[in-house]
Amino acid sequence: EDRILTQNFTPEDASEYSLRPKRLSEYIGQTKIKEELKIYIEAAKMRNEPLDHVLLFGPPGLGKTTLANIISNEMGVGIRITSGPAIERAGDLAAILTNLQENDILFIDEIHRLNRSVEEILYPAMEDFELDIIIGKGPSARSLRLNLPHFTLIGATTRAGLMTSPLRDRFGVIMRLEFYSVNDLSEIIKRSSAILNIGINDEAAYELGRRSRGTPRIANRLLKRVRDFAQVKGNGFIDFETAKDALDMLGVDDMGLEHIDRKMLKSIIEKFSGGPVGIDTIAASIGEESETIEDVYEPYLMQIGFLNRTPRGRIATKLAYEYLNYSIPE
Ligand code: ADP
Repeated sequence: EDRILTQNFTPEDASEYSLRPKRLSEYIGQTKIKEELKIYIEAAKMRNEPLDHVLLFGPPGLGKTTLANIISNEMGVGIRITSGPAIERAGDLAAILTNLQENDILFIDEIHRLNRSVEEILYPAMEDFELDIIIGKGPSARSLRLNLPHFTLIGATTRAGLMTSPLRDRFGVIMRLEFYSVNDLSEIIKRSSAILNIGINDEAAYELGRRSRGTPRIANRLLKRVRDFAQVKGNGFIDFETAKDALDMLGVDDMGLEHIDRKMLKSIIEKFSGGPVGIDTIAASIGEESETIEDVYEPYLMQIGFLNRTPRGRIATKLAYEYLNYSIPE
């Protein structure tokens, strides 16, 4: 199935590396985060110390990995990139930690998916830069304490609530990435167009930004799809009409919603009288994974006020009824 909204790598993401801003000054939007980080980075550099451990959270595609790389560039230190599910055993993490250089950054994406035994190694490592390892088995087993290089852990997660509190508490800096404004997104689109040599005007960039659901990764994906359209149907230049036609053809509507978003809202409205209905029930009724709904679809629907989350389940709002042309029940 051809989807713009997916957690998986798409062909459009192939140039993600070249589109990534390398410096804080190139990173568009997230002003508050940038201002704060600038101060922390400068202070750490003045003291010649590693930066405090940083936790970045927010929906996928908002720039967490990009920010981790920027921090390493700005600090002038190395970065080792891994992810929660990739670190299977305590020994895997021990190997990574002991190979770090002084002041290096360790970036763990999807940090909420670390398993318990691995997470426990991380506590003394983060707090005291120490690693406890057990050598041998049975009565002759002994515990050995190793000193680790001073390092900065940067953790990324889609939802801070998924993490255990002992892990969360060990981060000195916790930052929440917000959805981007349409203006920021059109800046990102213009920047990417320049890098990829795509001709586009301001109106078209704005239209793309408007339908990118607050997310730079989506903006870049849409840009590349629309470029294909412009090449085949036109002269390659993306003007407002081209952008609009291409986006309509892609099934990305005026609010940036896709087929699955509409299917989900319609299902809540038609099958569950607008809710409240549990996430697992919704997932089953539309044939999606609950986790994908919670990470990818729902945050934006809540942001634009189409969906509410209550203790008893999800509710489609009046705005959603209106947008999808349903009459509002009494
Ligand atoms: P996350 O790690 O949060 O899933 P990424 O850091 O991989 O997101 O960002 C996805 C893509 O979006 C990046 O490749 C980058 O090109 C673009 N991007 C993200 N944030 C910004 C930004 N603030 N300015 C410009 N481009 C950005």
